[in-house]
Amino acid sequence: MLRFRRTVYCDNNATTRVGKKAQKAMTEVLGRCYANPSSPYRMAHEAAGILADARACLSRVVNAPPETLLFTSCATESNNSLRAIAPLLPPDKRAILHNPLEHPAMLETLFLLERQGFSLIALKPDRQGRIAPEDLERAWREDVGLAVCMAANNETGTLYDVKAMAAVAHAHGALFFSDMVQALGKIPVDLLDSEVDYASFSAHKIHGPKGVGALYVREGAPFAPFMLGGHQEEGRRAGTEGLHNIAGFAAAAGDVPLQLAGAGELCRRRDALAAALRELAPDCVINSPSASECQPGTLSITFPGRANAVLMGQLDYYGISVAAGSACNTGEDTPSHVLTAMGLSPEEARNTLRISLANDFSDRDLRYVINIFRDILSGAGNTLTAVRPSRLTAEMLFAPDVFIIDLRRTLKTEYALKPLPNSRSFPFFSIGKHLDEIPRNKHILVTCEVGYDAPIIAYYLRRKGYRQLSFLMWGLLGWKLARPQLYARFAGSSAQEGTQNE
Ligand code: PLP
Repeated sequence: MLRFRRTVYCDNNATTRVGKKAQKAMTEVLGRCYANPSSPYRMAHEAAGILADARACLSRVVNAPPETLLFTSCATESNNSLRAIAPLLPPDKRAILHNPLEHPAMLETLFLLERQGFSLIALKPDRQGRIAPEDLERAWREDVGLAVCMAANNETGTLYDVKAMAAVAHAHGALFFSDMVQALGKIPVDLLDSEVDYASFSAHKIHGPKGVGALYVREGAPFAPFMLGGHQEEGRRAGTEGLHNIAGFAAAAGDVPLQLAGAGELCRRRDALAAALRELAPDCVINSPSASECQPGTLSITFPGRANAVLMGQLDYYGISVAAGSACNTGEDTPSHVLTAMGLSPEEARNTLRISLANDFSDRDLRYVINIFRDILSGAGNTLTAVRPSRLTAEMLFAPDVFIIDLRRTLKTEYALKPLPNSRSFPFFSIGKHLDEIPRNKHILVTCEVGYDAPIIAYYLRRKGYRQLSFLMWGLLGWKLARPQLYARFAGSSAQEGTQNE
């Protein structure tokens, strides 16, 4: 069915469109106010003023004194600051209780601390990712000095009662750190009221620029700087401030009340989408909790038996951008740690999409997305042939009318399987630059390392007008498992050697 091609961005938990006010604020600073805010002359005073205004603006939005907010380069850095904070815990309080569904920026930091001698205690989420403050209380141990729990989960939208959790931690004389990246702009954030000790934020999740975040350190909370080498941020975070980014962050933060005012509508559209998908695919499973316990706009949904990479490719063909958990973004074969910790099997996690909407998602967008899902789920949409690994034969490899594309993610070595003979390697992210090297009169078979990239690029090529297209399911890794002998014989050999071997 031919549809009017539109672009509907449904991956707002990955990043958001930069708002007009943020763009304007950044352009002004870039063009006019380039002085270093730390310098002594008049030009720099204006820069320092912009910095102070930005801090004051953010402080009003999150209800915290300006001096408790440090600007960082991103929320990943804010979370990593735990590396400098944790060593300040008393020697007999070196256990950390944490939500296992944290973003990798927090989780990897915790794993590093574990390697340095801290012990980690993971809380147990339920099937919707929920963890109650009572769970924190029940899991408490005498040696716990710090509890870590995000305010909203980036994959499912699950909300956590961080105020009650901080109270549990404080009742035990411990500290509490919350990653609030996915909460700001979606639910009210009141730092003084919630009494958390540390919190992290990111501008690009609230229609601000990428490359700037914030760290909240409660007045009196133990703190040691993580970034060294300068006196900026009162000596607590070294590095010349990215003033244009900070100004953009503040402008976006200024619009947070507007974003919050639209949360009810956003929630209604998300729920309408969930209801429509349930009707279209009665066997689908919604992993996000119900509205009152979920960040508005986020929907995690499993379509049993449907590989998320294929669905992503199909939706992308129709201009709809969604996510498939962290695995798909990296091209790795590891299913989402969030979904598996919630009890989904690796297979179910690989059948799961994350749809994350923002306030600019209209009713018209909603109708379009539902219609496209209807086409895809009923098989009426544009469907490409998925070649099962067991079906990839030697004949196919050397058929003169088949052009094999072997996709590679640069800088990835763990899955560096040898390319197929008779194939051309193209980098995943820049294949668009190589279209004139891909013939239009041959059948194109797209392969990749672990199976995520091939369907996405195959549908991309369909959009670019290629007619005869198929992709290898489960990638070369799948082929290695399904056809070990063929793999051993052909993979890595040149076209000529391959023909001779045959
Ligand atoms: N924490 C959460 C919950 C996130 O969703 C993200 C981004 O996806 C981050 C931290 C990292 O943010 P940044 O991109 O600013 O480093």
